[in-house]
Amino acid sequence: MFPRRTLPPAAAPIYPRDILSGLRGLCRGSGESKRFESELRDYYNVKHCFLLSSGKTSLAVILKALKELYPHRDEVLIPAYTCYSVPSAIVRAGLKIRLCDMDPQTLDFDFNQLSKIFTPPNSTNPLNPTNPTNPSNLLAVIPVHLYGIPCDLERLKNLINDPEITLIEDAAQAMGGERAGQKVGTVGDVGFFSLGRGKALSTVEGGIILTNREEIAEKINTLIECVSQYHFIDLVGLLIKAIMLFIFLRPALFWFPKSLFFLKLGQTIYNPNFEIKKMSSFQAGMARGWRKKLKHFQTIRSKNTKHWISILKSIKGIQPLPITQITPNAINSLNPTKPSNPSNPSNPSNPLPPLIRFPLLVIEPGLRDKIIATSDRFGFGVMPGYPDTINHIPEIKNLFTRQEFPGAKTLVERLITLPVLPFVAENDFIKIKADVF
Ligand SMILES: *Cc1c(COP(=O)(O)O)cnc(C)c1O
Repeated sequence: MFPRRTLPPAAAPIYPRDILSGLRGLCRGSGESKRFESELRDYYNVKHCFLLSSGKTSLAVILKALKELYPHRDEVLIPAYTCYSVPSAIVRAGLKIRLCDMDPQTLDFDFNQLSKIFTPPNSTNPLNPTNPTNPSNLLAVIPVHLYGIPCDLERLKNLINDPEITLIEDAAQAMGGERAGQKVGTVGDVGFFSLGRGKALSTVEGGIILTNREEIAEKINTLIECVSQYHFIDLVGLLIKAIMLFIFLRPALFWFPKSLFFLKLGQTIYNPNFEIKKMSSFQAGMARGWRKKLKHFQTIRSKNTKHWISILKSIKGIQPLPITQITPNAINSLNPTKPSNPSNPSNPSNPLPPLIRFPLLVIEPGLRDKIIATSDRFGFGVMPGYPDTINHIPEIKNLFTRQEFPGAKTLVERLITLPVLPFVAENDFIKIKADVF
């Protein structure tokens, strides 16, 4: 690795003014977190909001609360291909992971398999020996809005149809997204966002829980009282990380942290033994102006996404996902200030969601590896998705013997993501197109 322009695969930039705002937040103390919470409640129109140290912490707290509310249930259903933080949080909460396959075209659950799981077993539909999920033991189902693509929650709700099963939206990658006029993160019973490094908006690390369900909020409230705060030394660590992110996320310098293997950049790690902390007022301060920042990043990412869509039309060997198969003309005619009108053919009812990375499938798995190797050599920020399906994570693979998830496996073998982060320049598109495809 040597000094050359290197794009991070995804990142929400952090600027000195955010860091200063964080320091001012730190001086203000708990009032700063109260302000952030109340802004989130107002914008998302929810009754309860909780701020924690990360997305996976938020999920673990939600699950612990549900476990106390429904002690006779202990299984959590998640997609077989997702961030390793999700199974980590489930194990951390002392619950059992159940998997459902995915539809590689939508990055949502495979609804065929899902409807089998939720059909009570009988003589014509015996209990599937290769998928032991039992709906009457299910505590929660967690749809994941991967890369910012909103899942079909209405369809999921209709299928579950059991008030004791909680729908938790993993909107870690989808803060600021909407589907059918509803804000992502507020459609399920409870939702969470991540403010980590590679997400839509970043405060170095952080997590947000939203819910309208009183009894869930009450339990979370009690649990959070026992959660520890960032110590002074942790705050110094956060400050240093924020400064490092400001300096080294820029493409001119990103080659340096990328070459330091011990930073494990871009790796997804299975580890249920993480620390659970409340968000600090430093982070809440860094988030100041979050709506404007989020909107600004979204505008740039969406411009970059459209650029990819127009470039990819002339490239062979790849298969765009249906959600991104909107012609650039149709996109240009989308007027974001007007509500979408599905009867107007130039205005697709499924407009392009705000993505944090641009996902697509390559037709030949071999081509995928070539693309990733080239990108790695030239620092293009083109990345595979997650390294394997959840049932193949070494630490937990014994829990899933004989279970196979072909849709999820397709994603492991064929998914790549292109960078849309604000640092992508015109010349990057040209070089990536010429050298990678
Ligand atoms: C990042 C992520 C998480 C965890 O968020 P952290 O803030 O990194 O703990 C959970 N789920 C998904 C889908 C994610 O991408």
